[in-house]
Amino acid sequence: MASKRFEESCIFCKIVAGQIPSKQVYSDDDVLAFHDVNPAAPVHVLIIPKEHIPTINDLQASDAEIMGKLMLAARKVASQLGLAESGYRLILNCGPDALQSVFHIHMHLVGGQKMGWPPF
Ligand code: C5P
Repeated sequence: MASKRFEESCIFCKIVAGQIPSKQVYSDDDVLAFHDVNPAAPVHVLIIPKEHIPTINDLQASDAEIMGKLMLAARKVASQLGLAESGYRLILNCGPDALQSVFHIHMHLVGGQKMGWPPF
């Protein structure tokens, strides 16, 4: 099996590798979820592929499974953190207008409060 894509300069790859600590809430072979260091809501978790993929623009057809796994991990994390009934929001920022600041795909799971819409 091919080894997972890894980018030495990527802060989230370093978190996956255990080189930088994180408050993990979920981990499996392909996905890691951890609390955001600068939470924007009472619950703010980042759900990331363990492989390095910079942005949604870089996705290939072969990444369909890992992106599905991010969603399934989000469901588990939401349930684990007691958000399944009250609700939560999943956000994927891509590129400058969306203010993506870490170029390793990550899904924000935010909840624990009533939110507004539209989100800008
Ligand atoms: O979508 P965007 O790229 O803007 O989000 C990056 C997120 O990663 C931010 O919410 C930031 O607080 C978080 N972060 C983190 N731990 C780090 C670096 C960034 O939780 N070491």
